[in-house]
Amino acid sequence: MSDKDDISQKTLAVHGGEPRTYPYDALAAPITQTATYSFADTAELIAYFEGRKDREEYGRYGNPSVRLVEEKVAALEGTEDAVAFASGMAAVTSTILALVKSGSHVILFADCYRRTRQFVTTFLGRFDVSHTLIPPADVGALKKAIVPETRLVIAEAPTNPYQTIPDLEELVAICKKKKIKTLIDSTFATPVNCNPARYGIDLVIHSATKYLAGHNDVLGGVLAGSAGMVSLVRDLRSLLGATLDPHAAYLIHRGIKTLALRIEQQNATAQAMAERLEQHPRVRQVWYPGLASHPNHDTARRLMSGFGGVVTFELDADLEGTSRFVDACRIPRIAPSLGGVESLIEQPALMSYFELSTEEREAIGIKNNLVRLAVGIEDTDELIADVLAALGATR
Ligand SMILES: *Cc1c(COP(=O)(O)O)cnc(C)c1O
Repeated sequence: MSDKDDISQKTLAVHGGEPRTYPYDALAAPITQTATYSFADTAELIAYFEGRKDREEYGRYGNPSVRLVEEKVAALEGTEDAVAFASGMAAVTSTILALVKSGSHVILFADCYRRTRQFVTTFLGRFDVSHTLIPPADVGALKKAIVPETRLVIAEAPTNPYQTIPDLEELVAICKKKKIKTLIDSTFATPVNCNPARYGIDLVIHSATKYLAGHNDVLGGVLAGSAGMVSLVRDLRSLLGATLDPHAAYLIHRGIKTLALRIEQQNATAQAMAERLEQHPRVRQVWYPGLASHPNHDTARRLMSGFGGVVTFELDADLEGTSRFVDACRIPRIAPSLGGVESLIEQPALMSYFELSTEEREAIGIKNNLVRLAVGIEDTDELIADVLAALGATR
């Protein structure tokens, strides 16, 4: 099943991209745990290399369990194809490397994932690939940043932690005219809340570690796009070796079965949480795309069918008071990452930006009293009650 326009995300999550039957009439997808594949005889080997026989060859080039993840994500995103990687960053770096060459220029929204930013701003320079950072969600600045060498625009929607959402339709209109490829890291949105390819985005990336797998127990990444683009990136994956392991693929594939259900719950809990926090006297500001107060709320409503499971907020407290609140939460666990069944909470100043001084953090908009809460699938009312009770600890 893959026809996105006729079939709901709930049904596609369960059945999308899967054959009707598996070997031995198994209902569940098997794990093909193998590093290589045998040929019946030399004639088959020759037929394969001459392109007369389609089959697997070697584990770094392909695996049926990995293929199932790729086909399911392609079905959910409504793209021709997808290719899976050992991690989200393997997907990001392999895709970018497949598209640029010495002399190319890349445009990146300044609030993109920290490691993506690091790769573009420090690593690519070694290969004479230049870049321009543009302000969050500022598509107007994109127009001005384009130079004749610009090959690629990298965006995220929503971003971390303020959840900005650039206008994807405008972004595509600008880039298509100049034949510039567009890449969106859609990890926070998931294919349930947004399908960027529908708006003409060329390349859609997910850290499958987060919502797709959904259980905080496996790393993975996926790129979805046209057959041509995916094939280009797949060839580089085979060369770089950032291939997804078959057992990890099985866990991701199994996780996606419940994706639409989990996202429905996480959207609802996060919306209710954001609304309650916004009313609370110990909370200064809340950033959630589903709130009318969010600067990109209108864009979110136009492009997304749900607003996601992450709520970011600033407390009326200092660094220590904010830590006391985080420590007082009994349900959310303190950990990096997001998107799993367990709620996770963190103080970005002490997690992703620990090495920076208070002044350096302020300069990039990360305040000491900022909290990121990624809601899981626990009971909505119990989670809200737990977080509200913990706010008392900020005093
Ligand atoms: C976590 C994350 C990544 C990196 O994914 P890994 O699976 O940890 O390599 C990339 N982009 C976003 C938005 C993420 O949240």
